Amino acid sequence: MEWCLKQPKIELHAHLNGSVRNSTLLELAKVQGEKGVVVFADVEHVIMKNDRSLVECFKMFDLIHVLTTDHETVTRITREVIEDFAAENIVYVELRTTPKRNEAKGMTKRSYMEAVIDGLRSVDTVDVSFIPSDLNRENSSRYFASNDNGITRRRIFVRLLLSIDRRESTAAAMDTVQLALELRSLGVVGIDLSGNPLVGNWDTFLQPLLFAKDKGLPITLHCGEVKNRKEEVQAMLDFLPQRIGHAIFFEEQQWKQLKQSKIPVEICLTSNIRTECVTSINNHHFADLYASKHPIVLCTDDTGIFSTSLSREYRLAASAFGLGEMELFQLGKNSIEYVFADEVVKKSLREIFDSATPKLP
Ligand code: 5GP
Repeated sequence: MEWCLKQPKIELHAHLNGSVRNSTLLELAKVQGEKGVVVFADVEHVIMKNDRSLVECFKMFDLIHVLTTDHETVTRITREVIEDFAAENIVYVELRTTPKRNEAKGMTKRSYMEAVIDGLRSVDTVDVSFIPSDLNRENSSRYFASNDNGITRRRIFVRLLLSIDRRESTAAAMDTVQLALELRSLGVVGIDLSGNPLVGNWDTFLQPLLFAKDKGLPITLHCGEVKNRKEEVQAMLDFLPQRIGHAIFFEEQQWKQLKQSKIPVEICLTSNIRTECVTSINNHHFADLYASKHPIVLCTDDTGIFSTSLSREYRLAASAFGLGEMELFQLGKNSIEYVFADEVVKKSLREIFDSATPKLP
């Protein structure tokens, strides 16, 4: 299934710190080990572990955050993550990350995001287009960009989502929304609510999310990742976010409501199986949503944590659900309609996909 790699693809659910290369984490752990911040042998074992429960994943995130605390490292991991996505023909990515404060490193939520944006600027294997089209003087509507020497390089469109962590307070979540509004001209297009689904309450985030909505910032919510959150799932569905991540533990009525609402669902197959939120690929709700033509997007969630890639997710969908090259191409192309970027970008993406349409035998 070489075509899974070759097809243009759109990634709409990727967490920056969950997508760091293992090789980079090991390198950072060595440095922190030498400084006595971590015990390298312990950390190495945790990084190389392949199967993690949901709870273990969140422990792993805490560890990653210890390794990626300074601005320079945030810039580095952003660059590497974008380079990795571009290398597998992802043409548009919405990268999400939680802006972090760290007084010891002189880091504010804003300076964290500036380090992320520096990472986008520092990519040199591919042309990165992240400034909104109305502010971008260059013609952003092409798959290839020419530099001053007339050399053409592939282009990847990148947009950013700022994540609110479920551990945060209402005031902290509001800071994140304000920051997202301030950074719109630098490619921030929306807000995500994520973090350990076993902690935090929907009510804490409602006011900042309503504020974001009022200001026209699109929102995607991690919804229904764990059992027995009936009321929260209901409140999230009633909120009418622009997209939903995962959508696993829904009651029958909520399932109906989701389908009627046509809210696009970001599907992360490997993540759901590895964390045992879904018992097996054969029981995955992808099949039902696909059969009922509900808007869905195949995504990776955390390429590093789950040792996956978007091409691998396409391959998995192809083999588990019997989908062919044309069907997966169409699924990827449909995602254009669910991106948070503006119409100019959508038009460019349609052109890219049209020019890459597979030839029927
Ligand atoms: P960051 O926002 O630090 O760049 O990326 C890692 C963070 O994304 C994690 O600490 C967590 O808050 C969030 N995250 C990553 N994967 C998942 C997931 O599968 N479910 C939820 N709820 N949050 C996640």
